Amino acid sequence: MLVGGVPIGGGAPVSIQSMTNTPTRDAQATLAQIHELAEAGCDLIRVAVPTKDDTAALGQIVRESPVPVIADVHFHFRRAMEAVEAGAAKIRLNPGNISDRRHVLDVVEACKRRNVPIRVGVNEASIVERRDAVARSVELKQLAGDYRREMVELMLRKLTDYVEIFRQACFDQLVLSVKSSDARLLIAACLAVGERFDYPLHLGLTHAGPPETGRIRSVAALGALLSQGIGDTIRISYSAHPIEEVLDAKELLCSLGLRARTEPELIACPTCGRIQVDLVDLVQRVRRRLAGIKVPIKVAVMGCVVNGPGEAEGADVALSAGNRQGVITVQGRHVCTVAECEMLDVLYEQCVEFAERVRNGQAELSEALRYGANSAGPSSSKRG
Ligand code: SF4
Repeated sequence: MLVGGVPIGGGAPVSIQSMTNTPTRDAQATLAQIHELAEAGCDLIRVAVPTKDDTAALGQIVRESPVPVIADVHFHFRRAMEAVEAGAAKIRLNPGNISDRRHVLDVVEACKRRNVPIRVGVNEASIVERRDAVARSVELKQLAGDYRREMVELMLRKLTDYVEIFRQACFDQLVLSVKSSDARLLIAACLAVGERFDYPLHLGLTHAGPPETGRIRSVAALGALLSQGIGDTIRISYSAHPIEEVLDAKELLCSLGLRARTEPELIACPTCGRIQVDLVDLVQRVRRRLAGIKVPIKVAVMGCVVNGPGEAEGADVALSAGNRQGVITVQGRHVCTVAECEMLDVLYEQCVEFAERVRNGQAELSEALRYGANSAGPSSSKRG
């Protein structure tokens, strides 16, 4: 299916989503953040539309956004109708939060008319029945014992009920999601959904927390699923500026060969007792210097001149620093040894020069020499 111009599922490359955290009714602030996120690699952007003022701003946001805009609707079906009218490329809807089934069907009809896909999903945090006390007690009893297994069953049951609503309305432009903040539960639930349904799957570990801790849980869950070909679009969600989500999602996809790198990959030694330089500071300075280079060269920064050059094997350009000097190699070939105060500038010059040669077809990336065509990605999800 197409969300705006972005294909999802059916073998398309896994796309990256994020969500703005500006008030959507402030179109200028929201658009500024969308441009920032798109520049960082975000393919699809989701905006919350809790009020009529938010959907009123959506038309301008849709027109001026560099990437397709998804409207995130929680409770009010009218917001969904207004969002479709404003040109949203996709709607995220939770039928369980809209009490009148006819209202859900109104949204489905509006989306059908405009060929707008809908994401429906279930979330562990809100899945146990709240309104019906008897049903709630039955569901809570079922969860006792093997919580994860029973929760996956419950999620599947609810999702199946939701999908049935759309199936009966002859609407097949669906993206599914199951969310949890527990990595093991999320993996089990997504595998089960992947087996049962043939709709594109949105992956995300919800309520991950700050990047410092949420990053590990998110990558553990999403990496396990993506490496098995499960997942068509992803959102890493942090309690932080959304740019962190996009940068980490991009690195995850690049690491798994699901997206081609477009910028330098920085590797660095883990440091040990042989260290001869403040490597932690040096790596950060190199990272900032490389930011403007738009060729995916592999750059290594090593902490001693004895073992560094050998351990930088596989890098395009390497700096081994120590004893107040820096040894610079390009694809294993010694280029020069310079004083410590010059090594950052010389490394940068060598990186720019090598990137230029790659761009002109005069040199090949080490990655391509090692892995051939398989190095560049993207390989797509196997699910449709
Ligand atoms: Fe230790 Fe040198 Fe290897 Fe860094 S490059 S881990 S300092 S031996």
